Amino acid sequence: AATAVALAWFDGELVPADGLQAGLTTHAMHYGSGVFEGIRAYATDDGGAAVFRLPEHLERMRRGAEAFGLPFDPAQATGAVLATLRANGHRDAYIRPLAWFGEGGFGLDVEGHVPHMMVATTATQVHLNGTRARLGVSSWRRNPSDSLPPLKLCGAYVNSILAKREAKARGFDEALFTDRGGLVVECTGANVFMVKDGRVTAVAHDDALDGITRDTLLRLSGAQARPVPLAELLEADEVFACGTAAEVAPVAQIEDRRYGDNPVTRELAELYGRVVRGREHAWRHWLTEV
Ligand code: PMP
Repeated sequence: AATAVALAWFDGELVPADGLQAGLTTHAMHYGSGVFEGIRAYATDDGGAAVFRLPEHLERMRRGAEAFGLPFDPAQATGAVLATLRANGHRDAYIRPLAWFGEGGFGLDVEGHVPHMMVATTATQVHLNGTRARLGVSSWRRNPSDSLPPLKLCGAYVNSILAKREAKARGFDEALFTDRGGLVVECTGANVFMVKDGRVTAVAHDDALDGITRDTLLRLSGAQARPVPLAELLEADEVFACGTAAEVAPVAQIEDRRYGDNPVTRELAELYGRVVRGREHAWRHWLTEV
């Protein structure tokens, strides 16, 4: 059973999450010098739980930490994730590791700022095929990869916040980034696929995050990955977004283009749901038991 007080892993110890505080000179708060991950654990049929593709998530986090010169040890992070899930009694859970530069001065240099790491977990209500998202095309461009590497750097998400706020103000649920040439990039926290005449295509773009869910679906479906113009996405039979949190999310609408039924998306969503719970033996190596 879940404990009443959520515990978080902070700098090597499990402590009550409520009591944690960050100092006012926290470098990451001023300048975004942190790196995070979004990971899921799922209850398995044997009564336990497993984390989906944990090494891949932590390897991406390691690359982000390296960009800032933040110390990061994937083996320690693995232990921290598992310890936090166990301490909280979480089985179906969202896992948020974050490493960042903390207290120091107000200067931009990271040197002299204390590096920290935390892991927090929250219980998730699992509902595949939840809402069908309505996407607005963002007037903001995605951070170009020659300005910011497409990793989960905290500061990079200011770009996602701007786009998401704009989309919501226009009455949509989520934003779709396109580049100046009209190619689709990704959503604010999810990658994009389309289905045309039964063929599944993953949107490929240098400015998009190399999503682990996207990689999973590419392997499961044998889909092709290639650049996709927005015009082609609008002519597709089905469009879906995918990510660790979103899982496989059918798109109902992009601007005033409405999509009908989405049978291929549903089938992939169901397959994904079985894979993450360890019900597909061929893909059990993607699970780390809690
Ligand atoms: N793009 C962005 C910008 C994201 O933040 C995420 C969520 N991590 C994704 C795509 C999907 O990546 P993943 O499947 O690894 O969660």
